[in-house]
Amino acid sequence: MFSYDVIILGAGAAGLFCAAQAGQRGLKVLLIDHSSAVAEKIRISGGGRANFTNRDLDPSAPQKHFLSSNSHFCRSALARFTPGDFIALMHKHGISFHEKHKGQLFCDGSAQELIDMLLAECQTASAHGGLVERWQPCKANRVDHDASACLYSVETDRGLAKAPALVLATGGLSIPKIGATDFGWRLARQFGLRVIEPRPGLVPLTFDGNGWAPYAGMAGIALPVAISTSEAPGEKKAKKSRITFHEDLLFTHRGLSGPAVLQISSYWQAGAPISIDLAPGVDLATELLAAKARGSRKLIANELTAWLPSRLADTWVSLNSAWQRPINEASDKALAQLAEQLSDWQLVPTGTEGYRKAEVTVGGVDTRDLSSQTMEAKNQPGLYCIGEVVDVTGWLGGYNFQWAWASAHACAQAIEKH
Ligand code: FAD
Repeated sequence: MFSYDVIILGAGAAGLFCAAQAGQRGLKVLLIDHSSAVAEKIRISGGGRANFTNRDLDPSAPQKHFLSSNSHFCRSALARFTPGDFIALMHKHGISFHEKHKGQLFCDGSAQELIDMLLAECQTASAHGGLVERWQPCKANRVDHDASACLYSVETDRGLAKAPALVLATGGLSIPKIGATDFGWRLARQFGLRVIEPRPGLVPLTFDGNGWAPYAGMAGIALPVAISTSEAPGEKKAKKSRITFHEDLLFTHRGLSGPAVLQISSYWQAGAPISIDLAPGVDLATELLAAKARGSRKLIANELTAWLPSRLADTWVSLNSAWQRPINEASDKALAQLAEQLSDWQLVPTGTEGYRKAEVTVGGVDTRDLSSQTMEAKNQPGLYCIGEVVDVTGWLGGYNFQWAWASAHACAQAIEKH
């Protein structure tokens, strides 16, 4: 039997950082992961360069960049460990990085540098009287809690380990082939915590069936759009409650992808429509009518190329014979209808590409059952949940890693005080 101060299940972003932070607080930590590789999701993140945080994160308004049943839950942890704190760590280890787009910070070299940094941080535990021991690959078969002794026991392939604190850092379900499981949620339920039904987030949307056939030929086209959640017919919601993203859209063989679609997918509810403005910032109706008034003899498809990729313009006008003509021969009604469709393209996805392609899982351990200060379960002393296993999901752009760092930090601080 092996004894520790804390056992962490999952050596991903949150688990590794929590282990380093706890070890540096003088604690004896056991980190267990069933995969042989450490932090595989960091390695494949951000196209191999890890978008490790975002400068635009505003902890005082977390609902701006995070989804959760309780949008204020993540506020405390994010305020106590900020993007600036993680940037300072990157500087300390001499890892160079750059800002790409909307505050997103990426490693200049590779995501492996970030993993090596986290492993090095774990190693420095010994200089603080702590220890981080890592069991990988190691399967945890069963977890029990002895309330009278205040001890968790974890039965594993390598023997029985015990500790007064247990941290669930097993992440979400995305990319099952690199080791994602629902183990954390099963354990959470075992100890009486509720779990908000998980679903794939930051995921391409699919449009199976004949309705998509006219658009299938546009695979490969990318363009900047404004994309919004929309209301099903008969459901009237205030327009201002819509979520809108201004990002790039990518047509694929099965549907739509690109940052715009990944972002909106986290908010999309099955069966609901989405709305896409294919020419954001342009009053297309006014522009098309002005071209007609000037007496332009250009084909409508050619006029549209001022604002849209030509393949998209060609495909679009092929949908209606009233648009396949010089603009001066088109009716005002046909032009208005064309403008309306291009600037408020309403479509109902048939589904998503699922966890195989999703970057995150929306949902997870219900924040009502956790302390927002410590990440500890309210009714199960010594049990902590951090990172993606919790019902906190960030936008695309480094927000999910920042949540992993911040929740891990809050948890390590709390365990030290225990
Ligand atoms: P994970 O990093 O997923 O770690 C969970 C760990 O638990 C894994 O090592 C897993 O092997 C282990 N585990 C699971 N089940 C068990 C079990 N039964 N027993 C033992 N161990 C178990 N976010 C960003 O902010 N920026 C990005 O650039 C970015 N890019 C991404 C790209 C891709 C392709 C994907 C899939 C995700 C990306 N994300 C990105 C999201 C980000 O990777 C996650 O939000 C983050 O890794 C969550 O950290 P975590 O520690 O909670 O979970």
